[in-house]
Amino acid sequence: PFDVLVVGGGPAGAAAAIYAARKGIRTGVVTERFGGQVLDTMGIENFISVPHTEGPRLVAQLEQHVKDYAVDVMNLQKAVALKPANGDGLATVELESGAALRAKTVILSTGARWRQMGVPGEDEYRNKGVAYCPHCDGPLYKGKRTAVIGGGNSGVEAAIDLAGIVAHVTLIEFDSQLRADAVLQTKLRSLPNVTIITSALTTEVIGDGEKVTGLVYRDRTTDEVRTVELEGIFVQIGLVPNTEWLNGALAMTNRGEIEIDSHLATSLPGVFAAGDVTTVPFKQIVIAMGEGSKAALSAFDYLIRH
Ligand code: FAD
Repeated sequence: PFDVLVVGGGPAGAAAAIYAARKGIRTGVVTERFGGQVLDTMGIENFISVPHTEGPRLVAQLEQHVKDYAVDVMNLQKAVALKPANGDGLATVELESGAALRAKTVILSTGARWRQMGVPGEDEYRNKGVAYCPHCDGPLYKGKRTAVIGGGNSGVEAAIDLAGIVAHVTLIEFDSQLRADAVLQTKLRSLPNVTIITSALTTEVIGDGEKVTGLVYRDRTTDEVRTVELEGIFVQIGLVPNTEWLNGALAMTNRGEIEIDSHLATSLPGVFAAGDVTTVPFKQIVIAMGEGSKAALSAFDYLIRH
C-alpha cells in the first residue's frame, strides 16, 4: 500500500507528491489529466518569482519535478470512489479501470472547473478574449472594454476588480436582479465605468476569427437581441469542485467543496484535501501549491502518530 496516495495531479497534487516523496515515504499520484487546469491556461503572470510562463510549459516543469522523486505517477486514471479505512487502517481509492489502490493516507486534490455559458463562440475564443479568472487575466485587458457574465458575489467582485483596470465593464445578469451581497452591489453602482444589465441571456460570443469583438444577448423582458462591442468577457457563473465521484463519502459544503481544517484534514481520519476542490478561499496556482504542500506535511504528521 501507499503511505500517501494523492488523487488529482494539478498544482496542488504535484506539490503534495513532492513534499511527501521528500520524506522518503511511498507516494503515488493518480490523476485523470496531469497538470489540471494549468494545461488550459495560456499566459501566467502571477506565479511568484516567474514573471511570465505558459500553462503547458509550467505543467512540463511540474511533471519533471515530480519525476525527480520516487513517485508512482498513474496518469489518465479516473478515481470513481473513496472507501474509508476500516480495521486495517487502509483507505481504498477505486479507479474507473476497475483497479483499487490502498493507502494509509489519501490527499484529495481533484480541483474544480469553471462553469461555462455553453454558447457559440465561447470555446473558440477561450483565452482569446473569453476568460474565467479576473485575478489572472484582468491586467491583460488594461484600458479595454470588458463584460462580466454573472451577478452573484464572484461576478460583482470581478466587475469591481476589473473596473479599476479596464476602460469599461458591462455586467450581465440573467435574473431580474443581482444576487451579490448588498455591500458589493452598492460599491458596484458607485463606479462610473460600469453598466449593469439584468434580465439578459448571453447567446453568443462574436469575434474576428482571432479574438473576441463582442457579445450578443437577448433582453428577456422585451426579447430584443443586442450586441455589446468589447475585447474581453469574464464568465463568472460558478466554479464547480470535482467531487461528484466522492458521493458524499466525507463532509462537503452545499456547493460540493470539501471541508477542511487549518491542517487540511477532512472529516475522514487520514484523508486530507488541498487546492480548488476544498473550501480554501481564492483559487490560484500558488495557493494550490501551498495547500498541497501543507496537506503532505499533515499526512506525514498523521503517519508518524499512527
Ligand atoms: P486542478 O488544476 O483543477 O487539478 C485537478 C486535477 O485532478 C487534474 O489533474 C484532474 O485531471 C484531476 N482529477 C479530477 N477529477 C479526478 C478524478 N475523479 N480522478 C482522478 N483525477 C481527477 N491561476 C493562477 O494562479 N494564475 C493564472 O494565470 C491562472 N489562469 C487560469 C486560467 C484558466 C483558463 C483556468 C481554468 C484557471 C486558471 N488559474 C490560474 C487557476 C488555477 O489553474 C487553479 O487554481 C489551479 O490549477 C488549481 O489547482 P488544483 O491542483 O487544486 O486543481
